[in-house]
Amino acid sequence: MVRVGLVMLQGARHAHISALNEASGDCGIPIEIIEIRKLEQLHSSDPDALIIPGGESTTMRKTGKDDASSLMPGMFEWIRSNRSKPILGTCAGAILLADPQDGAPPLINAVLNRNAYGSQYESFQGAVHSSLLDREFPGIFIRAPRFVSADDDICATHGDEVVGVKNGMIIGLTFHPELSPDRGFHKWIIENAKV
Ligand code: GLN
Repeated sequence: MVRVGLVMLQGARHAHISALNEASGDCGIPIEIIEIRKLEQLHSSDPDALIIPGGESTTMRKTGKDDASSLMPGMFEWIRSNRSKPILGTCAGAILLADPQDGAPPLINAVLNRNAYGSQYESFQGAVHSSLLDREFPGIFIRAPRFVSADDDICATHGDEVVGVKNGMIIGLTFHPELSPDRGFHKWIIENAKV
């Protein structure tokens, strides 16, 4: 049984739940999904992996810093002290990992430019090549950020552009793998969570 924490601040959380359940079935590894709304839930459950969905990073910073939640910055500290656990930040989740704003080192070593493709109208789908999965992956980019620079391993590209980085077990993607039918990244998270 792999226990996957899912940060419930905002974004396509329920799509991640479906994706995780399907990925679990595909790879034959049972999972328990732990919905994380408060820091104490992260500490008491101490999951084997963590997913930070996309959404609006400004909103997530506000809701996550709320006294009732206090998820941030504690969540970043938890990630720093759990280096062997797979962590997936999608879109706004990647923005938070790159720029935790807690005075400590970032979780991925990259600079992202928010909303860099333009307005919602410029959201798009496109084939991504993932070296992590060793194949093409259908990328769904929604008001996506762009990597301005990335000092970590590149794990996904769209044409010449970097759209995914990997720092140890921490992955930041500018697209939304939970919204495409391919469960590759969710399977990777489950299969790489050591229990
Ligand atoms: N535009 C969002 C931000 O800057 C990210 C978009 C997303 O997560 N789909 O936070």
